[in-house]
Amino acid sequence: MKLNQSGKYIIGVDIGGTNVRAAVTDRAGKAFGESRNKTLADDGPKAVLAQIVKTVQEAMASGEVTAEQITGVGCGMPGRTNREGVVTWSPNFVDIEGFELVGGLSKALNMAVLVENDVNTAAVGEFRFGAGQGVDSLVMLTLGTGIGGGIILNRQLWRGANAGAAEIGHMVVNPGGRKCECGNHGCLEAMAQRDAIVERAARKMQAGMPSSLAEEADYQVDKITPEIISRHAASGDELCLETLAETGHWVGIGIANCINLLNPDMVIVGGGIAQAGPPLWEPLKRGVRAYAIQESRVVCQVVESKLGDDAGIMGGVVLVLQALERA
Ligand SMILES: [Zn+2]
Repeated sequence: MKLNQSGKYIIGVDIGGTNVRAAVTDRAGKAFGESRNKTLADDGPKAVLAQIVKTVQEAMASGEVTAEQITGVGCGMPGRTNREGVVTWSPNFVDIEGFELVGGLSKALNMAVLVENDVNTAAVGEFRFGAGQGVDSLVMLTLGTGIGGGIILNRQLWRGANAGAAEIGHMVVNPGGRKCECGNHGCLEAMAQRDAIVERAARKMQAGMPSSLAEEADYQVDKITPEIISRHAASGDELCLETLAETGHWVGIGIANCINLLNPDMVIVGGGIAQAGPPLWEPLKRGVRAYAIQESRVVCQVVESKLGDDAGIMGGVVLVLQALERA
């Protein structure tokens, strides 16, 4: 289905493992309506599709925008999708392989639909509307349950031979280190994902290191979250500071490798864990200084995401804008 060239509005959709969010914006990215629902990723692709459709329709209703006014729908989806818009792999979604995301959504909404990997989508969102405005090349990392990546070179998204580029989370930064879900050991993701951070804090707690975190979590590992760690680090708790410093160190090495490989203008770090402030960022920047080639490092800004949780939604809008510009 073709884009509606005369449409005034665009819909951006961020399909996460937990929530699906949609926003209606104009071509300048100004939002007019929004909605959010559970993705129901455990219930299979039919349920997921129904949730996406419902969320888009609610966003349109809240913005008092009609279907005829929509140019197209751009979606960020975790994992890989082929050129026909069929999902070939996605973590955390049950029975998702073969799900005709573009076909199904386009038919249900009677609109043109575009889809891209979620972190690639966040990268184009930051590039157009966020921290990356005005640069030619950037690398985006998102720190969360996993670690995702997106690469923009010469103002174009770099997808790789079969949409597998920018798996920065599976760059090995510590050979023989913590086991990764991909089967390797010491991947950046294995060293710095959410579970790795919690494990790191838990080990210190179990070793008897005194900490205000241990008191809040009542010495129970399953009560520790990166958010609590960040909060206690901000008030100077040594255990939490050490935990975030070690995390920042590994992320810094990963970023240094990206800088050495691509010589980008900018590296943007997003995801909830990136909001931990100086206790994460100072060790992270020390790691970058220690391992990146100086000539490349001095021209590369390493910054926090500007759009935060909205990077995916805004990236969805950008997918449509870029398709319009190509048309
Ligand atoms: Zn891995």
